[in-house]
Amino acid sequence: MSAKRTKFIFTTGGVVSSIGKGLASASIGALLEARGLRVTFVKLDPYINVDPGTMSPYQHGEVYVTDDGAETDLDLGHYERFTNARLTRANNLTTGKIYQAVISKERRGEYLGATVQVIPHITDEIKARVREATAGADVAIVEIGGTVGDIESLPFLEAVRQLKLEAGATNAVSVHVTLVPWIGAAGELKTKPTQHSVKEMREIGIQPDVLLCRTDRPLSQSIKEKISLFSNVPTDMVISALDVGCLYELPAALHAERLDDLLCERLNIWSRLPDMAPWQRVVERFTRPSRGTVRVAVVGKYVHLRDSYKSLNEALIHAGIANDCRVDLTFVDSEALESGADEVLRTLGDSDAILVPGGFGERGVEGKISAIRYAREKGIPFFGICLGMQLAVVEFARHVAGIARANSAEFDPQAPSVIDLMPEQRGVRDKGATMRLGAYACVLTPGSVAAEAYGATEISERHRHRYEFNNDYREALTGKGLVLSGTSPDKKLVEMIELGGHPYFVGCQFHPELKSRPMAPHPLFVRFVRAGLERATAVAAKARDERSSQAPSSVVH
Ligand code: GLN
Repeated sequence: MSAKRTKFIFTTGGVVSSIGKGLASASIGALLEARGLRVTFVKLDPYINVDPGTMSPYQHGEVYVTDDGAETDLDLGHYERFTNARLTRANNLTTGKIYQAVISKERRGEYLGATVQVIPHITDEIKARVREATAGADVAIVEIGGTVGDIESLPFLEAVRQLKLEAGATNAVSVHVTLVPWIGAAGELKTKPTQHSVKEMREIGIQPDVLLCRTDRPLSQSIKEKISLFSNVPTDMVISALDVGCLYELPAALHAERLDDLLCERLNIWSRLPDMAPWQRVVERFTRPSRGTVRVAVVGKYVHLRDSYKSLNEALIHAGIANDCRVDLTFVDSEALESGADEVLRTLGDSDAILVPGGFGERGVEGKISAIRYAREKGIPFFGICLGMQLAVVEFARHVAGIARANSAEFDPQAPSVIDLMPEQRGVRDKGATMRLGAYACVLTPGSVAAEAYGATEISERHRHRYEFNNDYREALTGKGLVLSGTSPDKKLVEMIELGGHPYFVGCQFHPELKSRPMAPHPLFVRFVRAGLERATAVAAKARDERSSQAPSSVVH
């Protein structure tokens, strides 16, 4: 493509929240990338927090961490999983971030003489940052969080209106994602919410170019015509975005609706047809695995909201695809495991593999430790991530190394702290963006399970934590068999642990789930699911043997 300037696709959402704008944006990126274009993304979030780092996962879902250590919206995870775009703190802007920048400039006197206002100062700041973050890409997909009609998203939408006008008709399009619900009582798909949502957009001054209509059944031609008539969007730009069983079906589903063709025509982009084969292979493997099912229990605290563990969920799906098996996930509330060993057995007895993910705060910690003990003692594949690794160290210290009251200083500062605050964290008072964040190098011990899984001894992974393995206990714990399989290059920080003589018992201080991709599944997850599959196969074989040995070999009358 010859264009020197970045073209924009602005994604907005109407009618309801959680309508899938993030996945739609990621899928558009995937389709354009499959056509050979360089894509990037910006997510504009209208809340006043500077970043989502201090929000509860119940409020916001997962906090996605980028290589450069930004705590960002989980949609950036979708963007990175669906494309090769590598994102940074510049790719997620919030109202808080914009106002913070403008107010600092005002204090420095950069607007001397002026009354600082939403228009033009806030909108100019948004526009400048969007341009800066997207420079160099062929196409930038800019998603505006929230729902059209929210008071708080108005400055972002006004900035988008201006950017679109300044870019010119063939350099910017507006894609509006709406809902066309099926009303059972009437036996009809209803277009009114979409009509209202587009009306709202037009009042702000943005005429949508494409409508992506979320629906559970295809839109008929007459429905599309009706939507077109009321929304001033050509009929062929009214697209059915049908619900899909697996989110990796979405790029192919939108391609089948000619979305990428239409966008390229509208943006005057000449590019090759997309190669959809890799996506088709992913979906095929996901929908028809040939090697059975692995039951994975994820023992955590934020179990009632799947978005809290979004990347983890996806990384396990990727690992299932790599192993050609189905991964059947159960989220277990760790607090429920605190009533005793019977409950642990009742809840986890059927699991082929147990995972303890990252987390903060004391609630449910003892339940997680019980789950880890169960996995260690019964030889069930175990994977501990961040807090999960820290608690695996606590469990080992208590039950193998005999340090009965061992704990993490996060939960009991008086106890022997096998996990302690990092020295550079001691003076930290502010909560926002002050953890150990982003990508750090790690060196793996040759011959360890970790090194074997990665097929390398030097890796880089993303972190988000304040506490770490306490080096005062290195000797006591390694003396009892704990393997420190990964450290920082200067050997000062323990980044990975594992146990020998166990099918798979691995913990890591970083978050590997953030780097797993459907087409590049993460090696630690692939090895974990493989170990689970081996266990599932062995358990099934044993049950078969027992059944056949109980059956009478011959019947004598
Ligand atoms: N709460 C722990 C810490 O801050 C673990 C963090 C996490 O699991 N992300 O170190």
